[in-house]
Amino acid sequence: MAVLDFARLAEQLVNWHAHQRRLLPWRAAPAGQRPPYSVWISEVMLQQTRAETAAGYFERWMERFPTVQALAAAALQDVLKLWEGLGYYARARNLHRAARQIVENHGGELPAERAALRALPGVGAYTAGAILSIAFNQPEPILDGNVQRVLARLCDLEQPIDAPAVQQQLWQWARMLVEAAPPAAAGDCNEGLMELGATVCTPQKPRCLLCPLADSCAAAKAGRQAERPLRSPRKSSPHYDVAAGVSWAGAPFQSPLLLAQRPAEGLLGGLWEFPGGKLEKGDADLAACLRREIDEELGIAIEVLGWLTTIRHAYTHFRITLHTFHARHVSGQPQAIGCQRWLWLGIEEVARHPLPVTDQKILAALHAQRAAENG
Ligand code: SF4
Repeated sequence: MAVLDFARLAEQLVNWHAHQRRLLPWRAAPAGQRPPYSVWISEVMLQQTRAETAAGYFERWMERFPTVQALAAAALQDVLKLWEGLGYYARARNLHRAARQIVENHGGELPAERAALRALPGVGAYTAGAILSIAFNQPEPILDGNVQRVLARLCDLEQPIDAPAVQQQLWQWARMLVEAAPPAAAGDCNEGLMELGATVCTPQKPRCLLCPLADSCAAAKAGRQAERPLRSPRKSSPHYDVAAGVSWAGAPFQSPLLLAQRPAEGLLGGLWEFPGGKLEKGDADLAACLRREIDEELGIAIEVLGWLTTIRHAYTHFRITLHTFHARHVSGQPQAIGCQRWLWLGIEEVARHPLPVTDQKILAALHAQRAAENG
């Protein structure tokens, strides 16, 4: 395995970053001079989202919740609504919860200390390292997908990077690198490393000719960039058929429809959706599945009227085909049995509630159908 000169790499990264970094809204000031709150928000958004997509969300967020105090005082529904479309909604719920803890326990200021940061909801090793280095210029390491890829290529790592021992090794290298950074440049070193992974050392077709670290890169020298990093073979993710219903109180488009709020915790917690659920072995067909699910979730009987749309969606650990139907309420008063709350709403009111991306697509299909029927 290649031996790395961390001091040289850190200096090259800091110099490169000073000239090549993209102008993004959270980079209004150099690393080390940014408000810790904006570093925290941007780093959480960037965990599962490309910078170009996160930029618009970040600007809207800072306008709406410009301080920890403003976020802490907001209603969770407003926070989720602003997060709508970014996915991984636990991030938004944790930001909201953590903001309240920061106001209560830290006087409204993000703590500049690893243990206190890690005690906040949703702050893992990566986020803590990013806040400490980028906001407070402390030589604390970060390790995200981009950093793992760059380090694995620099060392031409032959082991799968998801193996626990390899993860430990990568964290150690990330620490050695940031500790070797020039004085007061820990944030620039870490941000430069992530930026290099995002823009030059990309998963496909890394642009090695433009890379400031090329003369130290073992994978580039061996021509194995495309083969690094290695990962353990993935198990294929399971697939489920799911039925959802746009359940009208009376005639479709001429009466209110039923929207249910998911339980507070778990997948898509706190978001609103057209009720339904997974096809089970005992269900004769999708319509039977929908009747059973709505009975179990809301305690009402419905009649399935007809197909509306089919949506395919991949979550992290499984995939679904979401078969959506128009339905009509037949009997029973809705009760929140398998959901947090429910509402009868006019079609125009649905978009005011935070919806998962699948339900945004159902709503779009509803509007399209109504427009087509109205000529
Ligand atoms: Fe990545 Fe190529 Fe730079 Fe190596 S030389 S770190 S593979 S971009």
